[in-house]
Formats: sequence, C-alpha cells, structure tokens
Amino acid sequence: MLDGMDREVAPVAEDGRRRIARTDVLLADPRLSEAAGRLGRGVVKAAVVAAQRRARAGEIPPGAVADSAVAALPETASGLRPVVNATGVLLHTNLGRAPLSAAAREAALAACGATDVELDLATGARARRGRSALAALLERVPAAEAAHVVNNGAAALVLAATALAGGREIIVSRGEMVEIGDGFRIPELLAATGARLREVGTTNRTAPADYAEAAGDGTGFVLKVHPSNFRMTGFTREAGVAELAGLAELRERGVPVVADIGSGLLAPEPLLPDEPDASTSLANGAGLVTASGDKLLGGPQCGIILGRADLVRRLARHPLARALRVDKLTLAALEATLRGPRTPTDEALHADVRTLRDRAERLAATLRQDGVDARAVDSDAAVGGGGAPGVVLPSAAVSLPEPYAARLRRGAPAVMGRVEDGRCLLDLRAVPAARDADIAAAVRAASAAAGEL
Ligand SMILES: *Cc1c(COP(=O)(O)O)cnc(C)c1O
Repeated sequence: MLDGMDREVAPVAEDGRRRIARTDVLLADPRLSEAAGRLGRGVVKAAVVAAQRRARAGEIPPGAVADSAVAALPETASGLRPVVNATGVLLHTNLGRAPLSAAAREAALAACGATDVELDLATGARARRGRSALAALLERVPAAEAAHVVNNGAAALVLAATALAGGREIIVSRGEMVEIGDGFRIPELLAATGARLREVGTTNRTAPADYAEAAGDGTGFVLKVHPSNFRMTGFTREAGVAELAGLAELRERGVPVVADIGSGLLAPEPLLPDEPDASTSLANGAGLVTASGDKLLGGPQCGIILGRADLVRRLARHPLARALRVDKLTLAALEATLRGPRTPTDEALHADVRTLRDRAERLAATLRQDGVDARAVDSDAAVGGGGAPGVVLPSAAVSLPEPYAARLRRGAPAVMGRVEDGRCLLDLRAVPAARDADIAAAVRAASAAAGEL
C-alpha cells in the first residue's frame, strides 16, 4: 500500500526506511486502532505519520514509532487543547473567557444527544425553546418581566437595534462610542443594522439634557453602553440610567433606555462597585438590559436580554432572532450556571489572597525539592474580558525562570502563565486549587525535558 502522506516526506536511506513499520501495520496496533474508533482515523494517522517522520530523522529509534504515536495522540478529536489559566486574568479572551462550572459541563453533556429543548414531553406538543433556561434567568433577576438569549452580547445589541430602531435613531453619548476589543466597535456594529446613530454630548461630558434635546419622533431608543475596558477620570459627566429613564422627553414619546452592561452581573457585586448589574439597571428604569453570558456571569458564550415583556417580545419575534438563536448545549450550560453552585469565575474573584499565598508557597516548596528555581511571590490579578478596568485583585504566583513560559505552554495540559521582569509567573487566582498538582507535574515535565532551566 502506498501511503499518501509518505510521499510528502524527504527521501531517506533505504535501510532506515525499511526498519520503520508501515502506516497500515502501525494502525493495526490495538492501541491505535482503538484510538481511531474514538478519535477518527485521520487524527490517529497524523500522529503515526509524525512519529514515522521523527524516526526517519533519527529523533526516536525505529522500534519506538508506535509508542511515540500513542503518546502524541490528542485527548479529543478537536484541535482545541485544554489550558490551565495561570495568567492572573480571570476572563482571558484568548483562552475562551469564563471556564464552565462542573454543573454546566454536565448539563451540556446531558443535552448532547436528542433532548426536549423544544418539546413538552408530558403532552408531546412543541414547547418554547429554552424555556427552563429563561425561567432560571427570571428567577435570578426578578426585576425583569421577560428574557431572551442569543449568541453573544454583540448579537443582543444587534437584535435590539434592528427590532427597536431599524431605520430610526439610537441616541448615544460620544463618551460611550467605544471599541470593546479586537476591532469590535459598538458604533460600527449598530450602524451595520441600518439604525442611525444620534451622537450627543462630548467625549468627557454628556448631560441628561443632551439626550432630551435629541429625542424626537424618529428615536428608537436611548443606549447606555458600559465602557467596560477603560475608565475616564477628571472633568467628566455621564447621565445614569435612572436620570435618563426619568426624562419627560423620553417618557412622553415612549422611548426606552437600553443598557448594555457588558459583563453580565445579575446583581451588584461588592468587590466590583463600578460594574453595572442587570437588577439595578432595570430597577433604575432601563427597558432592556443586554449582557454577555461568558464574562462575570461565568457561563457559556451567549447574549442575555432582560427587561420589559413588550420589548423582549419584539426582539424575540423579529425574523433576525432566528439567525441569532443559541444551541441546546448553550441553553443547558446557561441554566446550570444560573441554578448551580458558585461558578469558577466567582470562586476566582472571591478567592482569599492568604489561601492563594499558601498554595503558591506549597507549590514552590515542592518544586524546589525537585531542583526547580521556584519561589512564591505576590502578584496582581485582573478581571479581564474587558471588565472592571483598574481593579487589581491581589494574588499570589509561583515564579520560575523565564524559559519555563514557552515550555509550559507546549505541555499537556498546556499551562499559560505570564512573563514579568524576566520571570515566568504562574498566578493562582484563576486556577482551581484542584489543579495545583497538574501545575507541579507540568513544571517537573518541563524541567526534566530541558535538563536544567
Ligand atoms: C463584551 C461586551 C460586549 C460584547 O459582548 P460579546 O459577548 O463579546 O459579544 C458588548 N458591550 C459591552 C459593554 C461589553 O463589555
């Protein structure tokens, strides 16, 4: 059998090639054929071909090809690899923001097959999609009359703009025309819906009267955007939700205030006094609140819409809602996040710094016994994910020589720290305590592979 992948490798000495087992022979190894049944033949074959290539290059003995391929097999058929987030950034955008709780993972797993997401099993009739996740949201936010869930926070804004202000105006402060990250600019997103932006005020100061003057028959809604990732200080003025909702010019015309709170806090969080939350925004008179599910709420990626029943209904019944709807896994994970125990994000936010220091001391001491230059140091953690800028969460880290950073990143599991002043810091605030042993093992493996670092 001529193997397709084999033709791509550089020609090597005949005798070297002959001693390396052929691909089909290797794939018949019970460990590899079992893996092919689990992961797919292509994934296993790629590991086999890579191992053959290493043998031809003289990196491993010809007899070790099967073992090497088995060792290199990925855990799953997906290229996404699990990472221990030791960056000290709780909601790291590049690491997928909020990690799901065990309850959310289990719920998503249970919903993987056929599930009653849109069916009433008691009657056999069709039922409202995601009804139990929506009920869970309303239980957590009694100030909301209704709820709807879409794919992410941006989709929630797009749906609100399209359904409530299509061809009309959205009044927004010049101080809130923000870029949230990765080139995602709120004004451009809103303009893409066909709604017109009516900018009011100045970058640093916008008063309620500015909104009142701009209100007219063509106004769809007033938008309050929480500028999540930056803070303005000095000579500033912004109009709060309560002030805007109280404006006679808006009330008389029935113009609602839509508050994009960003982070998804459902109720006030004492540790983050400047972060807006859904309950307070609604109590202050917002008609709608939009937020992300995978920031401080600590759940799956989704966009949460809470507020007045008539407004939520207009969004949920708009044709665009179908294009933005979430899948059953998201609904399951969201509901379990809302009903389940404290999320990993919440645990990380509330972790006691003394406990973090103890963990860092213990880890560093263990590693020193193995000859690793490890020490426990104080560290500054942050919320991240574009939330709570300026808030420093006191934390503790294990400090290692800088070359560990790259080696740990390439390990299994990958451990992602951060480099500071020529040292690799593994910040423990976003790491569940149960993973400390994994970190120790990863550092030992990196140290063994590198000789001495
Ligand atoms: C994060 C954020 C968004 C975007 O939400 P995604 O879920 O990332 O789409 C919109 N507005 C604010 C204020 C945010 O913080």
